[in-house]
Amino acid sequence: MEVLTYQNTLAYAQQLDAEDPLAKYRNEFHYPQINGKDVIYFTGNSLGLQPKCTQRFVDDVMKDWRELAVEGHFYAEKPWWDYHERLAEGLGKVVGARPEEISVMNTLTVNLHLLMVSFYRPTQKRFKILCEEKAFPSDQYMLQSQVRFHGFAPNDAIIEVKKREGEHFWRTEDVLKAIEEAGDELALVLIGGVNYYNGQIFDMKEITKAGKSVGAFVGWDLAHAVGNIELNLHDWNADFAAWCSYKYMNSGPGNASGIFVHERHLGKKDIPRFEGWWGTKKETRFLMQPEFDAIETADAWQLSNPPILSVAPYLASLELFDEVGMTALIEKQKKIVSYLEFVLHEIDKEVESTFEIITPKDRGCQLSVFLHGEGRALFDYLMKNGVITDWREPNVIRLAPAPFYCSFTDMYTFGQILKQGILEK
Ligand SMILES: *Cc1c(COP(=O)(O)O)cnc(C)c1O
Repeated sequence: MEVLTYQNTLAYAQQLDAEDPLAKYRNEFHYPQINGKDVIYFTGNSLGLQPKCTQRFVDDVMKDWRELAVEGHFYAEKPWWDYHERLAEGLGKVVGARPEEISVMNTLTVNLHLLMVSFYRPTQKRFKILCEEKAFPSDQYMLQSQVRFHGFAPNDAIIEVKKREGEHFWRTEDVLKAIEEAGDELALVLIGGVNYYNGQIFDMKEITKAGKSVGAFVGWDLAHAVGNIELNLHDWNADFAAWCSYKYMNSGPGNASGIFVHERHLGKKDIPRFEGWWGTKKETRFLMQPEFDAIETADAWQLSNPPILSVAPYLASLELFDEVGMTALIEKQKKIVSYLEFVLHEIDKEVESTFEIITPKDRGCQLSVFLHGEGRALFDYLMKNGVITDWREPNVIRLAPAPFYCSFTDMYTFGQILKQGILEK
C-alpha cells in the first residue's frame, strides 16, 4: 500500500532514511570508495561489507596468539577450544534453531558433502535426489559427485524441478508434485532456500513437510537465505541445512560456514558420519582415547579444531545481528526492496529500455532485473559512477540492497545514475 505514496525524489528518500531505525548502522560498516565517495553497494548477496567491529575481534585473536601461543587454547580471553560455541545461540536465532542444533565449521560445499554422508544413504530402491533446475553450480557438482560416488548415474538419480515455460520462478505446487511422484524412490530433497539467480524464496515449510511425508530426508542450502529472510528450521522439521557466512552475514571472504542438524538426529551412536576429534566430548577429548565419544550437539559433525581467525569475524558480525534482530532487518528489507522496485518502475517510464523484474513476490533482499536493450556497457557505467552491482550476461542485473548498510537515498541515487547511463548510451 505504501507504494502509492512512494516518490522518486531525493527529499522523499531522505525522509525514509530519517524515519529508518536502522539508519545508524550504516556507520558500523566500511565502504569501498569510488570517486572519493562511499559506493552504493548492491552485492551483499555475494560478499557482505566489513563491519567496523570485525578488526577488534581479529586483533584479539592475533594478540592472544602472540602473547599466549599454545596457552591461548585455554587461557585466551575467549579460549579457542570452545570459541565456536559462542556462535551457536546467536546463529540459532537467525535460522530458527536451538543452539545445540548449530555448529560452525569448514565451508559451505564441504559441509553439504559431510551432511550428505549422513543424510544421503541411497538404496537400490530409494536413491533419488530432488533439487531445483539450474541450482548453484557448486551444488550441482556436489549432487552429481555424491550420486556417482554411490554408484548411480546423475541422469537417473537427480530430479530437477523446472520452471514453467515462459515463467521465471518455480511454483510450489510443481515442487510438491515432483516429490509425490518420486515417492518412495526419493532419498533426499536438497534445494537452495533462496535461489541465487532470481531471488525467489522456496516454501521451505511445505516442501520439507512433503519430503518428510514420502520418507525422504530434507536439507536446505541457505547461502542466500541466512541473515536475509525469516527461517524456522527447527519447527519446519528440516533434517539439516548449511550456509556460508560471507554473503548477508558479513563474515568475510570464504569464512566459516554454519550447519544445522535437527535435534532428532543428535546424540545418536549409529548415525553414519565422517568423524574427527573435534566431534568428541570436550571432557574426554584430551584423554586421546581410541573410541569416538560423540558430542550430543551438531558439533559432533566437526572434524578439526576450527579456524579461529575465520570464526572470529563471524562472531563479530553476529553481535550486530543479535543487537538488531532479524525482525527489524526483515522489516527494513521489505521496505527498501519495494522502494527500489518503485524507483525502477519510475525510471522505466522515463527511458526507452524496458526493465523486467524476474524476482517473484516471495522474495528476500534481491531483485533480479532484465534490462532489455542494455548490455555490459551499462554495468561498466554504473561501476564507474560508484554503484557496485552484479551483472550476468547477457543483461540481468542482480540488486541486493542489504538493510544493514544500504539507505533509501542510495536507491534514489542509483535510479538517477541508471537513467543517466541509459540516456548517455
Ligand atoms: C554462494 C553459494 C555457494 C558457495 O559455496 P562455497 O562452498 O562457500 O564456495 C554454494 N551454494 C550456493 C547456493 C551459493 O549461493
